[in-house]
Amino acid sequence: MEFVSERLANLSPSATMAMNQKGRDLKAKGIDVINLSVGEPDFNTPEHIKAAGKKAIDDNFSFYPPAPGFPDLREAVAAKFKRENNLDYSPEQIVVSAGAKNSLANVILSLIDKGDEVIVPAPYWVTYVELVKLAEGKNVVIRGEIENDFKVTADQIEKVITPKTKALLLCSPSNPTGSVYSKAELEAIAKVIEKHPRIHVVTDEIYEHINFVGGHESIGQFESIKDRVIIINGVSKAYAMTGWRIGYIAAPLWLAKACTKLQGQLLTGPTTNAQKAAVEALKGDQSCVKEMLEAFKRRKDLTIDLMKDIPGIELSNPDGAFYVFPKVDSYFGKSVDGRKIENSNDLCIYLLEEGHVATVPGEAFGEPTCIRISFATSDEKIIEAIERIKKSLAKLK
Ligand code: PMP
Ligand code: GLU
Repeated sequence: MEFVSERLANLSPSATMAMNQKGRDLKAKGIDVINLSVGEPDFNTPEHIKAAGKKAIDDNFSFYPPAPGFPDLREAVAAKFKRENNLDYSPEQIVVSAGAKNSLANVILSLIDKGDEVIVPAPYWVTYVELVKLAEGKNVVIRGEIENDFKVTADQIEKVITPKTKALLLCSPSNPTGSVYSKAELEAIAKVIEKHPRIHVVTDEIYEHINFVGGHESIGQFESIKDRVIIINGVSKAYAMTGWRIGYIAAPLWLAKACTKLQGQLLTGPTTNAQKAAVEALKGDQSCVKEMLEAFKRRKDLTIDLMKDIPGIELSNPDGAFYVFPKVDSYFGKSVDGRKIENSNDLCIYLLEEGHVATVPGEAFGEPTCIRISFATSDEKIIEAIERIKKSLAKLK
């Protein structure tokens, strides 16, 4: 007998984590899988950041941390917002958590009540809709079309606002599409939000530094709504620190306090030596960020160049993050050796089993016509993986 709560029974597992695990399992069996499923930089954490983490262990940072994070890290985060985004936040408005995913969970659980509506632009990152479900909120999904680089417009948002709308989730640069909202697009959205004092904007800016079109724009810059904007960010992507698990928010003080209360009950506080490494990441030499960005840009160009000639695929050129999100539905209904591909799940399983390339079905991101491919890997692996994808797709008739 199993007695899982209804809340958990209704929760979908993370598709990104699941595909990553499938790839790892096949690899453990000795199969040469190229894993383009999970989104994480393939770079090692830079040496100076690792050194700070090691020093923290030697300096005996082995006791419980304060719930919202160490004061020096919260100060370093506030300074980062001033330096990089020209946004004024006090350290009290910063809460550090065990990764941006944990930050998001804190925010959604602190903000959303049963029945509250949350506007979620699709394609969305897999975790958003599940967290809203956990909070017993209602996902109101609106779709960005490939013709508009999968972005939604202020008009689309305005049309679905009701008296129950409590939050809008934004992600720029976007996972899974790589699209980046311009300042003008964000300003138009801010003008809509301005009119509705109950609506908060939760903006996920974890890919801020992986931007191929110039500077990052945050919706937090618009004064008229700033006290209703919650910025999610962290060190995972910019500093190749996914395993250290450090994310943070900048929020109105009341929400930072609510998240701190929740965190005090759920986590105690983020891991101590990882926090010290994050201080170094934010305050130390920033040249590693630029170097990794250059590599991602080169890999993006390579990926697009190799994929654009694959028959039956529609592709938009990402402006940021490290994903391409090709439309592949022209392959649905096709078969090979009696195996029929009905949808993006089938296609990803087929690509894994036939081509030994792990990707993620668009289904999980609310866009079932697409699949997500991460190009956060070496040029050699990208070249080999896309060749395998091309060959596997060509077998489908
Ligand atoms: N937001 C987005 C859009 C992501 O892709 C991810 C995945 N890393 C996260 C948040 C969570 O990041 P973290 O590893 O810091 O939990
Ligand atoms: N965010 C990454 C992804 O989308 C990592 C996996 C996860 O955190 O779900 O692949």
